[in-house]
Amino acid sequence: LDGYVGFANLPNQVYRKAVKKGFEFTLMVAGESGLGKSTLINSMFLTDIYSVEHPGPSARIKKTVNVDTNNVLLQENGVNLSLTIVDTPGFGDAVDNSDCWDPVIQYVESQYENFLDAETRVNRIVLPDTRVHACVYFIAPSGHGLKPLDVEFMQRLHDKVNIIPVIAKSDTMTPEEVARFKKQILNQIVQSRIKIYEFPESETDEDNEKHENRKMKDRVPFAIVGSNTIIENGDGKKVRGRKYPWGIVDIENLDQCDFIPLRNMLIRTNLQDLKQVTNDVHYENYRCRKLAGVAG
Ligand code: GDP
Ligand code: MG
Repeated sequence: LDGYVGFANLPNQVYRKAVKKGFEFTLMVAGESGLGKSTLINSMFLTDIYSVEHPGPSARIKKTVNVDTNNVLLQENGVNLSLTIVDTPGFGDAVDNSDCWDPVIQYVESQYENFLDAETRVNRIVLPDTRVHACVYFIAPSGHGLKPLDVEFMQRLHDKVNIIPVIAKSDTMTPEEVARFKKQILNQIVQSRIKIYEFPESETDEDNEKHENRKMKDRVPFAIVGSNTIIENGDGKKVRGRKYPWGIVDIENLDQCDFIPLRNMLIRTNLQDLKQVTNDVHYENYRCRKLAGVAG
């Protein structure tokens, strides 16, 4: 019969509905205060453009004092992506930083709790998913490696959320210094047994994707420059960048920093995998801790 909706048709319908509705993704930024977290998410997704004539909030002194969420709707190849960005208070300002990770952990776990509640109560196939799928962790461009606080923060978070380490304000270092610093940080991460987000080995034979992942992996920790100012580069082209006496940094130039690779990896190439690992590993860890009565 025409118009008969059998049960067998449901999964497909649900799938189509999900695609039509789009994907949900939550990105969090964390790290010491003043490293450019708010600036980066603004440059990447919120597209507030400031200029010398119209200085934005980052040019005035504005501190993120609470966990602050922002929603943006993006379109990628005609598919909607509903992106939630979680900005967290930077630590390092307080006299005592001994529990600076508390608000971050609280936020991550409260989203798991909401999801668990919904999962157990509601008999629906597609649940709203506000779990944190990635936490971009900012490392100061000191050239001296991770601080004890960085190590402890990542160790406390690594079985709760996908951690993606980045070197903040990499325009303050030379390319050689950045390369050396990246190696040093990776060594420390291994030695401290910190589990950062691992790029999946590609299962497909598509060389493109493999190549893409290889290149991404080689850039970890991503060296970042953020800017909410549009400036003119040498060719008279308007670019998002930072201006110096010696020249300009175009943050979207792949040779100058990893801004674009990080953006692509988050919302394109690794979006699905980040969601999957969040569900299969981190959320599962939470559920087990909860069942054992140690979460919260
Ligand atoms: P947050 O405390 O981590 O959120 O840091 P903000 O985004 O508020 O930035 C703190 C200051 O650093 C501001 O004056 C920014 O203009 C500046 N800043 C942000 N990103 C960069 C960057 O990539 N390079 C440089 N040199 N400065 C930056
Ligand atoms: Mg901030």
